Amino acid sequence: MSDCLFCRIVAGEIPSTTVSVTDHTVAFLDIEPRAPVHVLVVPREHLPNVAALSAVPDLLAEVVAHAAAIATAQGVADEGWRLIFNTGAHAGQTVFHVHAHVLGGAQLGRLGV
Ligand code: 5GP
Ligand code: ZN
Repeated sequence: MSDCLFCRIVAGEIPSTTVSVTDHTVAFLDIEPRAPVHVLVVPREHLPNVAALSAVPDLLAEVVAHAAAIATAQGVADEGWRLIFNTGAHAGQTVFHVHAHVLGGAQLGRLGV
């Protein structure tokens, strides 16, 4: 999708800081980090949200495995980290190309309203 921000990042049309890649996923730094470690993991394929991603189990597993590998590589696996898929308006999703937020490196706030 040429009008999708993260499709354009995956295609290299918009600059980003790549963290690592797998066959079907790309991870890059969030432009506005909310934690010392804040990496976004996206499938190369355009899917709008985690509900759509759940229909492609192998790809969902690759996204989550990539996130876990990043947590290890970034040195936060032992202390703990968080994986978030914001989905829809109430969750504050702003980019409608599914992305997993990998957050860590400090004590994170509690989830909720
Ligand atoms: P959401 O709010 O949809 O869950 O997350 C979207 C995330 O994308 C936000 O954390 C935001 O900071 C990040 N973001 C928005 N635009 C860009 C961009 O152009 N480059 C990068 N690397 N991250 C972006
Ligand atoms: Zn997209």
